[in-house]
Amino acid sequence: MITTSIQPLEAPSPAYICPLDQACSYLEAAARELKLDQGLLQILSHPRKVVTVSIPVKRDNGEIEILAGHRVQHCDVLGPYKGGIRYHPAVTLREVSALAMLMTWKCALLGIPYGGAKGGIALDPKRYSVGELERLTRRYTSELIKDIGPSVDIPAPDMGTSAREMAWMMDTYSVNVGHAVPGVVTGKPLSIGGSLGREMATGRGVMIIVREALADQGKSLADVRVVIQGFGNVGSAAALLMHEAGAKVIAVSTGSGGVYSETGLDIPALKAYAAENRRSVIGFPQAIPINNAELLTLPCDVLIPAALENQITEDNVNQVQAKIVAEAANGPVTLVANQALEARGVTVLPDILANAGGVVVSYLEWVQGLSYLFWDEERVNRELEHLMVQAYHQVIKHSKIRQIPLRLAAYTLGVGRVAKALTDRGLYP
Ligand code: NAD
Repeated sequence: MITTSIQPLEAPSPAYICPLDQACSYLEAAARELKLDQGLLQILSHPRKVVTVSIPVKRDNGEIEILAGHRVQHCDVLGPYKGGIRYHPAVTLREVSALAMLMTWKCALLGIPYGGAKGGIALDPKRYSVGELERLTRRYTSELIKDIGPSVDIPAPDMGTSAREMAWMMDTYSVNVGHAVPGVVTGKPLSIGGSLGREMATGRGVMIIVREALADQGKSLADVRVVIQGFGNVGSAAALLMHEAGAKVIAVSTGSGGVYSETGLDIPALKAYAAENRRSVIGFPQAIPINNAELLTLPCDVLIPAALENQITEDNVNQVQAKIVAEAANGPVTLVANQALEARGVTVLPDILANAGGVVVSYLEWVQGLSYLFWDEERVNRELEHLMVQAYHQVIKHSKIRQIPLRLAAYTLGVGRVAKALTDRGLYP
C-alpha cells in the first residue's frame, strides 16, 4: 500500500472506506500492469500541492462560523490543474485528494491537456442562505487567489455547487486581479462565457458510454431498464437523455429517498416536480416510494450511481442485479465490490471514463473562452461525442489486448500517458 502525507482531519469510523487508499490501490494496480518505475509511482501517488484555508463566514444572525476549505492540486504535467469544487458535509482532505488524483487520470484518458485538482468545503449547502453561500464562496476564492487562474488551476462545479458558485468565483477573482477573467472557472453561466451544452455534459457523457457498451452487447438504450441514484446535475441529465433515447428509467433517488415505477418514470415531469420541490422526488405522482438501499438492488439492466462515493460495497454487492454499472459519480463502487462485480461478469464502466463528459465540455468552454469564439450547442455536443466514443473504444481495445478489466484498462491508459509525459519532461532540478 502506498503511504501518503495526507492525513484525515477527523478520526474515521471503523466502517470508513478511505477514498484516497482506494485511489492509491488503483494507481498501484495500473503501475504494476505498466511495470512503472518506483520513483515515478512515488511522484504520481503524492499531490503536488495541498492547500487548506480557514473560511470565516458571517451567518445571517450575525454569528461568525469558521469553515475549512481545501484545494488539492495533484499533477500538472500535462497542463493547468482542473477539477470541481464540492460542497458537502462529508468532504475531507483525503476525499478531495483522492478526487484530485482521479481527475489527473481522467483528463489524460480523454486526451485533454489538463492536470488533476479538486476542492471542497465540508458543509451542507441546504443549511445556508444564498447570501451566506455567496459570502463563503467569495472568501474561499479570495483565500485561493494565488493558487488558481486560467493557466494555473481552473475550478468547475461538483456536488453541491453549480453555475451560480462559478459566477461568484469568477467575479471575486476578476475583481481582485483588476479585470474580467472568464477563463478562471468553467461551468459558468452563459452570460459570462459559459458554454452551451455544459450543464448536460456529464450526463450526456454517461449516456454515450452506456449506449456504446450496450451496442457492444448487441442492444440499444431502447431495450433497457435503468436505475439512477442521485437526481442532481449528473443524474437528472443522464435520466433525461436516456429517457429521450427510449430507455425505461424505472427508479431514481435523491439524498432523502427515491421513486420507482415498473413501467418507467416520466422523466421530464419528474425534473419539473423536483425543481418545484427543493430538488426532492418524494411524493411524485404515479410512482412508488423507495429508499436508496432498495434502489441499488432493484432488478434492472443498467445501474447508474450518480451521487456519492462508496455506495456499492461488500455489504450490498451480492444483491446488485444490474448487468451494467456505470459510475456517473466518482468512486461509487468500492474496490472490493468492484472485484466482486467483475468476477460475476458485470460490466463496470469506470468513473474516469463514464463521467468524463463534464471535464470534456469544461475544456471546450475554456478553449472557446481563450479563442473568444463561441460555438453552437450542436458543435459542442459533436466534439463531446467524438472524444467520449474515442476514449471508450481505446479502453475496450486496451482491455482486450492486455486481457484486463475495463477499470484497469482505463487507469493503465491514463496513468501511462501521465508517466510518459513526466518521463519526457524530466525531473527538475
Ligand atoms: P449534485 O449536487 O447536483 O447532485 C447530487 C445528487 O445526489 C442530488 O440529487 C442529491 O440529493 C443526491 N444525493 C446526495 N446524497 C445522497 C445519498 N446519500 N443517497 C442518494 N442520493 C444522494 O451533484 P452532481 O454534480 O450531480 O455530482 C454527482 C456526482 O457526480 C459526484 O460524485 C460528482 O463528483 C460526480 N461528477 C459530477 C460532475 C459534474 O459535472 N457536476 C462531473 C463528473 C463527476
